[in-house]
Amino acid sequence: MATAGDRQVLLNPGPVTLSDTVRAALGRGDWCHREPEFAALARSINARLAGVHPALQDDYDAVLLTGSGTAAVEGMLASFAPRRRTTLVLANGVYGERMARMLAAHGRPHRVLAHDWLAPPDIARLEAELACDADISHVAVVHHETTTGRLNDLEVIGQACKAWGVQLLLDGVSSFGAEYIAGRDWNLAAVAATANKCLHGVPGLSFVVGRRDLWRKPGAAAGSLYLDLRAYHAAQHGDGFSPFTQAVQVAFALDAALDEHAAEGGWSARRERYRARAERISATLQEQGVGTLLAPAEFGSVLWSYRLPGRLGYAALHDALKARGFVIYAGQGRLAADIFRIAHMGDIRPVDLERLCQSLHELLGGRGR
Ligand SMILES: *Cc1c(COP(=O)(O)O)cnc(C)c1O
Repeated sequence: MATAGDRQVLLNPGPVTLSDTVRAALGRGDWCHREPEFAALARSINARLAGVHPALQDDYDAVLLTGSGTAAVEGMLASFAPRRRTTLVLANGVYGERMARMLAAHGRPHRVLAHDWLAPPDIARLEAELACDADISHVAVVHHETTTGRLNDLEVIGQACKAWGVQLLLDGVSSFGAEYIAGRDWNLAAVAATANKCLHGVPGLSFVVGRRDLWRKPGAAAGSLYLDLRAYHAAQHGDGFSPFTQAVQVAFALDAALDEHAAEGGWSARRERYRARAERISATLQEQGVGTLLAPAEFGSVLWSYRLPGRLGYAALHDALKARGFVIYAGQGRLAADIFRIAHMGDIRPVDLERLCQSLHELLGGRGR
């Protein structure tokens, strides 16, 4: 099979194909997480994470924790969703529904504004809920819903939060670093994200960027020891240490990934790069009669989903692409039989993109039919 050496290119929504520089950073050394050099590194990473989106730079602090993106989202909800007021979850996919399950697990009052997975957030329903239920103090929503690739319209949702005086808790796991994120204009309390999606680091570290005054709120117990992010904030923004062992080598890689993110032009340049990949891949698929699940304008830049052609099931397409060095991603839940997903994150080089499009052409068009 024609693969370029042993190179495997990941087109799943994280972890991503690492750049050589980020991979090499893993070998920087054996450090103790309780020595001053690691505290200094963690402080520097936190400051740079808060600066990835300029609107967050001045009023928000990041905290780093060891765990995947789900740990950051759960830590955010455990630390910021109130015990006596209601959090309204806007759900239009797996990850929105997961936030509701987390709130249930932590015994936090919540209601779910449930949507079909193919539907955009219904702003009229959101505003009606905010108007008739004065108990709602927070709205929890996913920015880029990876289930479908939809970029939920946070400009509109954030403006509603601001207008109604409710705080926004954002799952930005697959948008942080590559889509626009505002702060006070959206009444953003906190956003959760991870090292190994749009920032192109290694899996193992995640983080929450929260408004500075909210971190310092006394008496807000998290109901979890490990996920009590105020304890992380107090430590990391105090002496610089963390309550528990951190993934030291993963932090080296994140440090290098943040260098590359900045050197390449920050979040907006990354978005443009992803968009160009999306356009190239979707045009190739369209030539083979494979259409997108959503209208192109509904997708963000990070991941697009496509309807499986009747002639080829997911497993056959996945296996044939994997044999050529590309890992695509299945649909989840009730979409599993109908779609496949291609993410645009990571070190995908022009030659990789050309080979991918050539492979798709062969498998879906001429020879593969
Ligand atoms: C990937 C993802 C998560 C979960 O991240 P893990 O690192 O797999 O725990 C949460 N939310 C969204 C939107 C995601 O894309």
